[in-house]
Amino acid sequence: MTQPQPSTFTAIIKPLTECNLACTYCSVWEKKWERMPLPLMERILDQVSSYAMSVFGPDVETNAMFHGGEPLMMGLDYYEKALDAIKRLQDAGRKIVPSFQTNASLIDERYADFFQRNGCGLSISLDGPRDIHDAARTSKRGAGSYDAVIRGLGLLQERGLDPWVCTVLRKDSIDRLTEIYEHLRDLGIRKVYLLSLYPAGDGANVINDLGIPAEQWSQALAALFDRWCLDERRIPMVDPLSKIVTNLQGTQQRGCVANNKCVSGSVGFMPDGGVFPCAVLTGADPFFYGNIRTQDLGEIMQNSVRTRLLDRHQQLPQTCMDCPFISFCRGGCMHQSYTRNGSPYTFANYCEKELFVHIEQQLLVNGYFSPIDRRAIIARRLDSAGFVPYNNRSFLRKIGTPKTPTIQASGEEVKS
Ligand code: SF4
Ligand code: SF4
Repeated sequence: MTQPQPSTFTAIIKPLTECNLACTYCSVWEKKWERMPLPLMERILDQVSSYAMSVFGPDVETNAMFHGGEPLMMGLDYYEKALDAIKRLQDAGRKIVPSFQTNASLIDERYADFFQRNGCGLSISLDGPRDIHDAARTSKRGAGSYDAVIRGLGLLQERGLDPWVCTVLRKDSIDRLTEIYEHLRDLGIRKVYLLSLYPAGDGANVINDLGIPAEQWSQALAALFDRWCLDERRIPMVDPLSKIVTNLQGTQQRGCVANNKCVSGSVGFMPDGGVFPCAVLTGADPFFYGNIRTQDLGEIMQNSVRTRLLDRHQQLPQTCMDCPFISFCRGGCMHQSYTRNGSPYTFANYCEKELFVHIEQQLLVNGYFSPIDRRAIIARRLDSAGFVPYNNRSFLRKIGTPKTPTIQASGEEVKS
């Protein structure tokens, strides 16, 4: 068993699975749970911060991410008490920070002040312009949530808060990806995570109508990559594009599947204390690790399901084992393999190789690789039909990533 050393350990905590919205593709697996009592939340915060420091060392930070359902439905009083627990742990030397994944429709002045006062990390859900967003992200009565989300976003931005925006792309929105990108940019968003609709929860019911085939996804993202690079007002961080650039440069590995972080550096909790790997697999029975109400996390993390998943990249089909991108792709998201094929150890059917090749070629023509790497990459270029290089060595260097300066082949840092 290999256990890479993450710099951040992420605990995805679902205090509830209910939501005020009813998105057509909601990926929450089960919505039948009682809400998480505060003592259980406090036990989880204690155990995850203790586990991370004991396994990965004193410098590893635990990100306690409140997730759902819609986590803000728990009410501010609940989180005031959870934050008190986090502060007590911090005072005792634990490195643990709070964050929220929210649909943003319930953010009011009090929540916005609370986030600002406590330095909370934030990720909100916004699918693009009003008609695209409102076609899927609706209230239970079918009303669009765009206005409420924009109001919540404004309250955050007024306070200087800079949330990630999580944007789910669908078959009926992918052709408007450039417009979606420009809309988010014009809203002042600086960090975007683009996702293809998951076949989980209600998403499984609509995947045939709204899911994006892998080839179409790769082609759309490749086109956006070129638009993004040449955009003088670009959004600094657009994942997965920024992540792929960093991973191809080999300076570090970013993303949940890189370095197997979705298993080694992440854990998810259901409202009853059930423990699972990551956000989208939290609640999927075959990935059940144990229950933190009755077991210590250290014991839970030794379970046989997780032990086997830690070595998933060595059990993949030959197509992936022979792939030049396996070092960071690792066969793609195991959730995709599981939901499409019934097992995390199969080919994901969501191969992004075409996108990786495209970005690699753009990096190549812009002088990013050593001569040895270049030979292998030029050989792969034969696979890349229709590629149009940009003869502009400086454009990729303008990609600003808040956490990671871009690196030239020489190893010299290029500040963006
Ligand atoms: S996708 Fe998120 S915001 Fe939409 S119904 Fe599900 S939990 Fe709520
Ligand atoms: S790019 Fe495709 S073939 Fe290569 S490791 Fe990823 S899923 Fe497998």
